[in-house]
Amino acid sequence: MKRGRGLTVLVGGVFCVAVISLYRMLELMQGAEPQGAEPQRRSDTPGQDLSRLQQKIDRLEGLLRNNNRLVATLREAVLQHKLWRTGRSGTNSSSDSAHSQAGTPPGCRVAEEMKDSADGIQLLNVYDLLPFDNPDGGAWKQGFEISYHGNEWEEQPLELFLVPHSHNDPGWLKTFDGYYHDQTQHILNNMVVKLNEDSRRKMIWAEISYFSKWWNDIDEQKRAMVKRLVKAGQLELVTGGWVMADEANSHYFALLDQLMEGHQWLQTHLGIKPSSGWAVDPFGHSPSMTYLLKGAGLSNMVIQRVHYTIKKHFARQQTLEFLWRQNWDSSSRSDITCHMMPFYSYDVPHTCGPNPAICCQFDFHRLPGGRVFCPWRIPPQPITEHNIKERALLLLDQYRQKSRLFRSPVLLVTLGDDFRYVESSEWDAQFNNYQKIFDYFEQHPELHIKARFGTLSDYFAALHRRLSAAGTTLPTLRGDFFTYADRDDHYWSGYFTSRPFYKRLDRTLESTLRATEILYSLTLAEMRRFHGDGHLVADFPAREHFQRLTAARQSLALFQHHDAVTGTARDPVVVDYGIKLFHAMLNLHQVLQSSAHWLILLDKNQYHYDQSQPFLKMDEVFSAHDALPQRTPLMLSEEPRSLIVFNPTEQHRSSVISIIVDSLDAHVADAETAQPVASQISAVWAEPSKMSTKAFQLSFIADLPPLALTVYHVTKAPAGSTPRARYTVHRHGKLATMQSEHFQVSHLQGSEVNTPLLLSNKHLRLWSSPETGLLQKLLLQTGLVQQVQIQFLWYGTRTRANQDKSGAYLFLPGEEGEQLYSPSEPPLVRVSRGPVFSDITSCFQHFTHTVRLYHLDGHAGKSLEISNVVDIRSEYNRELVMRLISNVASSNRFYSDLNGFQMQQRQFLKKLPLQANFYPMSSASFLQDSSSRLSLLSAQSQAVASLRPGELEVVLDRRLQQDDNRGLGQGVTDNKLTASLYNLLLEDRRGGAKEVGGASVEHLSMLAHLASLSLCHPPISMVASSDTKLPKLRPFLPLGSSLPCDIHLLNLRTLENPQEAGSPSQEVALLLHRKGFDCSSAPDPLPLCTWSVHEEVNLDDLFSPLRFRSVRRSGLTLLRDHDEPESDRRFTRLRPMEIEAFRVELD
Ligand SMILES: [Zn+2]
Repeated sequence: MKRGRGLTVLVGGVFCVAVISLYRMLELMQGAEPQGAEPQRRSDTPGQDLSRLQQKIDRLEGLLRNNNRLVATLREAVLQHKLWRTGRSGTNSSSDSAHSQAGTPPGCRVAEEMKDSADGIQLLNVYDLLPFDNPDGGAWKQGFEISYHGNEWEEQPLELFLVPHSHNDPGWLKTFDGYYHDQTQHILNNMVVKLNEDSRRKMIWAEISYFSKWWNDIDEQKRAMVKRLVKAGQLELVTGGWVMADEANSHYFALLDQLMEGHQWLQTHLGIKPSSGWAVDPFGHSPSMTYLLKGAGLSNMVIQRVHYTIKKHFARQQTLEFLWRQNWDSSSRSDITCHMMPFYSYDVPHTCGPNPAICCQFDFHRLPGGRVFCPWRIPPQPITEHNIKERALLLLDQYRQKSRLFRSPVLLVTLGDDFRYVESSEWDAQFNNYQKIFDYFEQHPELHIKARFGTLSDYFAALHRRLSAAGTTLPTLRGDFFTYADRDDHYWSGYFTSRPFYKRLDRTLESTLRATEILYSLTLAEMRRFHGDGHLVADFPAREHFQRLTAARQSLALFQHHDAVTGTARDPVVVDYGIKLFHAMLNLHQVLQSSAHWLILLDKNQYHYDQSQPFLKMDEVFSAHDALPQRTPLMLSEEPRSLIVFNPTEQHRSSVISIIVDSLDAHVADAETAQPVASQISAVWAEPSKMSTKAFQLSFIADLPPLALTVYHVTKAPAGSTPRARYTVHRHGKLATMQSEHFQVSHLQGSEVNTPLLLSNKHLRLWSSPETGLLQKLLLQTGLVQQVQIQFLWYGTRTRANQDKSGAYLFLPGEEGEQLYSPSEPPLVRVSRGPVFSDITSCFQHFTHTVRLYHLDGHAGKSLEISNVVDIRSEYNRELVMRLISNVASSNRFYSDLNGFQMQQRQFLKKLPLQANFYPMSSASFLQDSSSRLSLLSAQSQAVASLRPGELEVVLDRRLQQDDNRGLGQGVTDNKLTASLYNLLLEDRRGGAKEVGGASVEHLSMLAHLASLSLCHPPISMVASSDTKLPKLRPFLPLGSSLPCDIHLLNLRTLENPQEAGSPSQEVALLLHRKGFDCSSAPDPLPLCTWSVHEEVNLDDLFSPLRFRSVRRSGLTLLRDHDEPESDRRFTRLRPMEIEAFRVELD
């Protein structure tokens, strides 16, 4: 039945498209005839006749091409439908697999292709293999004794590169400005002087946020010196990101934002592009970051914070250097050479070799009399004629031991630490003493070592030279380096959740930034077209807005630092970050408001910019950096109020828009068509059991075309005309009192008290406990039933005085494990039912939890929305967890995403402590068996775990009274009222997971992608001022249709004008991400968007009627020298899972 209907709809749709296209062709044909052609033209010369004929033929040819493309599209749509049908019948797998392979959309083919090429090291297998027994390794405590004969370097001498570095956190114990003022500016000033003194000296620098700030402070002469140092290869800018980003909590949008911000700065000011990555302090490493680095043109990278057991294993296998490959990549396209530092830390004691007591003696900043010393109690000695031999040989022994852990005789040793090289004396101490040792090596060829200061590029160039000369190749590796442990059972899984308020704010800012970037770029393009002369509208503050956008990009970028989004900075620093995010939000709102204002005006001459009195105002307002956003109540009257809704997604969607109004009855209509839309009035809750009598929530179903601004009219309606939500309230064992003059409120009575609460829409049905209101069971329309219970739990921490305890970084739960959340009194449970949505809210002491069902036809109606508002400020050393318990037979496996970019398989390992089994989740996790998949899609980053089959849990907030000894010097006790938002999606599934060497590559389903897109990019509502007489508004519809379901418009980001700093150029970075998806669950009905069975797409078709004047494929950070030459062909290849960047000009 359903399938038949789906087919009818599809065929109908296809027919419509065909008719419309034919009609357009006819129109074009008529247009091809000269309008009102007059007979006297007949007297034209034969030459003119011929040229007109030629033109006609050209046009016909063009039309034919269009026609062919249309036919191809139609064929594809039909093929696609066939594919789903055959796939669903499950009969073609053996007989016709070759054919089905060819017809499978590329997005769901990637996992399949992986099967044949799963060579190399798979980290999941390494975890299976290792005992994690942590024996004492001697001098190298977490490693082993390293031996060598001494003749290993006779043929090929040891080639040592000592790389000086200074790790500058853009905020941690001090704020960004505090560090800059006290340390960073002095480091950089001294750098210029000290590197200039001796051309053999080198230095690397990573954080462009600091570098660019310093650049603004220095004069032209100093800038010229810096450029000279860069050109001479003495100073290398490594990674080139705005910050050294966290790789666990950051979303790939923001990771790319901070990389682009840094790379664009480097190109503009120094004319360089980085080639080596440097990430020595982020707490674990993600392949999503390597993907972005590779895409930005880097070919090598260094990482440091990796589980000590993994390091030891890799050291034994000589696999500390490897080609890091994406899980899903069956080619070597994504490979990047990665060097993993073998020892405990990036400081000097842990980088020269395995023995920190010896290496510390070669940190000449710790010479006696200074502020820092060696904790191993053997101080360094200045190098003199008398001790040089002994010192050089002692150091050489460490170098030689370290070298035995690598396949090539090239050795990387770093020389630096946090905020090093502040004073000029420190530069002298390090560089002069080391130079003496290097000179000594030089004078003693029998030692077979060539040692010098170097940059990362120096090192990697030598490495590649030696490897290729020896015919050695590095092994490939797939997987990620979470969850990090630096010693014992100290797993850094706490920071996956620490300061969750700001992790949520980060993502809200991120989606606002993306929306603003896109709308601003579209506005400039429309303006240029409007006058026809390429000029912008005079009154529009394009330059000021561009600077607001830039400031917001940089604030989001700064927050990706590994002590910012991680929640591991001191309280005042957290406030400083919060204020920056808050200001960024306000800035973006200004850009959004005035861009939307211009776009929706019918008569553009009525545009007037007034910053103090904007024509449009945001519906949702942020009042402070530490408060949740609030909606402004809208005063209604018989005069319509205009509500403008921006859909920031590239998909047509049906969404529920909620606003606060002062009236119990309201009429909502599409302003363009005057068609009324379905709406509902619900209570606004002043307290859990107290409704507001002045404010009410108006919710309506908005039909939102892709990237469009839609105008709605809201008017006060006659009493009783708007459907109101009906309420049931209950408090188990007690009488729930609730007065309401406006809403119908009932109480559970008699046997109802023990009957599960039921909600349903046309797609699914759910049952909740009448006692707690918490979810118990789900039933899909397809008949799939799944037990899905929601529970809340507490984790505590260890209690004995001498035990290590949880803090900002570490999760060290108490031995008793989790405790079920058992409130002293049962929660107030509120059930609301209405035509637009229905929900169940449970009001507990520490949190308010809501499960909501939207009564929508499309995919938005297929998932449950779960929201929590948490407040644990009254607690002591506790963490609150939300757990889902299902009967999905997931065994010990589950999947969590990495940076919202890809899914990574996880397995619960009993041999590891509880805290080791928690992983970062930025946007999704799921459990599955052969018949169903349960996906939890998330709008913020949090820790996730699956501790038993069928279970999934997320850590909502943590309040920890003590420091966990990683330098922060405080606990996390600045908790706030914190919101979290999810979609829960249950899907039928056919076929098992694809095994790849014990690990399976999986992707979100198409439906999960769409749900996640909607969740992370909610519509943005703005209200038109009611003070003045309203000008005529019209919707803004930039796209003719949705993009294919699997193509995500990651950004449309206006680039800076290279000729005029701080101004927008005509060039825009178009970033597209083609998602890989899982084909074992087919959405029914099929989504409105299509997807291609080919990897080639036509950009002009995708974005029609938007047109691109020029299109240049570029590297991911849009560095000019990565650009491919422009081609006329607008067909371009988008491979599944890959992000492609184009430098375009919108016409
Ligand atoms: Zn750091």
